[in-house]
Amino acid sequence: MSDTYLRFVPYDSHWYPDEPAAAAAIKVARELFPLAEHVAVELEEGLTFFDAGANTESIHCPFCGSDIEEWWGDAMDQGAASRFEDLSVTTPCCQKPTSLNDLRYIWPAAFGVCALTVVDPGVTSLASEQLRTIEQAMDSPLKAIWQHL
Ligand SMILES: [Zn+2]
Repeated sequence: MSDTYLRFVPYDSHWYPDEPAAAAAIKVARELFPLAEHVAVELEEGLTFFDAGANTESIHCPFCGSDIEEWWGDAMDQGAASRFEDLSVTTPCCQKPTSLNDLRYIWPAAFGVCALTVVDPGVTSLASEQLRTIEQAMDSPLKAIWQHL
C-alpha cells in the first residue's frame, strides 16, 4: 500500500504558526482525521517545495495556460541553487512576471517553510469546511496538497 500525505501549507510561503497555533491545528486535524497514522507540524530550515509526489503532472502558465513543464524543471534547478530565496520568474511563453509559487500546478503544490502534515489521513478528499476549520486553528489561509508516494 502506498503512503498518502495530506499537507496544509500556508498561502504566505514565509509564514509559520507560533507554538499555540501549531498545537491547535494539530488538535483539530486529529479530530477531523481520527484514522490518520500521524499528525504533525513540520518546520523546515528554509523554503521547501511541497509537491504532489507521484501525482505531479503538468504545470501551466497562470496567464496564458501554456504547458511550461520543461522550462519549469530548469527554473526549479536555478531556484534550488539559491535555496529558493527568490521565487520570482518570468514566464517563457508570454514574458510575464510571476513566482514559482503562483504557477498553475495541475495537482496543487506550494512553497513554504512549514506544513501541517497528516500521514495516511484515511480519507481521499477534503471538505471545504474541514479546510476552514484547520485554517481557523492555524490562523492562516492554507493550501491543501495531496502527496502520494
Ligand atoms: Zn504564458
